[in-house]
Amino acid sequence: MRDPRSIVRRQQQPSSVSRPVVTPIWPSVVYQSRDADELDAQYEGRLDGYTYAREGHPNATLLAEKIDWLEGGAGGIVTGSGMAAVSALFLGLLQSGDHVLAGDQLYGRSLRLLTLDLPRLGFKTGLADPTDVEAMERAIRPETRMILVETVSNPTLRVADIDGIARLAERHGLILAVDNTFATPRGLRPFEHGAHVVIHSITKLLAGHADVTLGYIVADTQARNGALRDACVTWGFAASPFDCWLAERGLHSFDLRFDRVQANARELATFLDGLDGIETVLYPGLPHHPDHDRASALFGGNRGRFGNMVSFRLDGGRAEANAFLRKAEHIPFAPTLGDIGTTLSHPASSSHRALTPDQRAALGITEGFIRVSVGIEDIDQLKDEFAEAVTAARNA
Ligand code: PLP
Repeated sequence: MRDPRSIVRRQQQPSSVSRPVVTPIWPSVVYQSRDADELDAQYEGRLDGYTYAREGHPNATLLAEKIDWLEGGAGGIVTGSGMAAVSALFLGLLQSGDHVLAGDQLYGRSLRLLTLDLPRLGFKTGLADPTDVEAMERAIRPETRMILVETVSNPTLRVADIDGIARLAERHGLILAVDNTFATPRGLRPFEHGAHVVIHSITKLLAGHADVTLGYIVADTQARNGALRDACVTWGFAASPFDCWLAERGLHSFDLRFDRVQANARELATFLDGLDGIETVLYPGLPHHPDHDRASALFGGNRGRFGNMVSFRLDGGRAEANAFLRKAEHIPFAPTLGDIGTTLSHPASSSHRALTPDQRAALGITEGFIRVSVGIEDIDQLKDEFAEAVTAARNA
């Protein structure tokens, strides 16, 4: 018989009674089965196994399982980005002609999806203020099937009335989907407040190192998770095994990182509040924040976990913002959030640049508006750097 060995062919895994401690990376696009009957058994769910990476792979399974634990869900799906998870929500659970009601301060790309792309595909959409349940109720139509809100809005950090909206969804028989990226499950678990679907941009605090782009979506029932999974596989929202591996590694320290960043955020917000040169600080943990009482109730009372985001308006406009950003040269000015280190963004020139100045003004986003994603640095170092940068803005 001819020798079957060839350097072109892969060998079996080396035999070993011991197992790696660290999760391996499975980059394989495809999985081989013994015969057609075995493949049938896999597709029919009688045997566990993988077939093709777009349909699932071990690194995605392991990551999804961990986020399921955090959110109190089961059967969640990891997607190639947070936006892929948001897209899967509509493509998996709605029919053409259905109406989605969403918060009016969603993440910019989600807003674009709702206002431009979904209508182009035959879905109907509407926006309303998620801090005002009556306004949400007025926007419900006979064909409304779903409500989508973010727990905390970007960059004004308004806190949605999740409990009120959940009661509204219940009364009208609507699916309530919550994008929990900003609050994270350490701040709030939407399933415990009546949500039917929970979404994350894993890219942010969950992975936590600004080196992967991933999303997650989980629903409350197997049927909905099945529909979401089919949408992800068909529309091609699969996540890379390496990204999943990095995110799982990042997730190991999520609890520690989150406790540290939210403590830093609280201290930084308190420090900035009242500093000469700052017009106002927006942080749900401050008593003068418009949603402070709701945030305290949702995020755990006075010891609440108000998250890592702090926004503020400098006295002045673009010149003051530029002076601030240039002075804070060691804090990256970069349009993301949730990295292990602090980052700064300027919504008027990035996430909200597509809005007119009047639309931005209505949201309170001036040219002097700065959003801070607080990291795990030493808080005294952060306070010094912010104090110097605010002084530079004052002198601009
Ligand atoms: N949802 C929220 C609240 C976000 O802030 C973002 C991105 O900033 C997304 C979804 C989209 O996530 P991704 O950038 O991973 O696609």
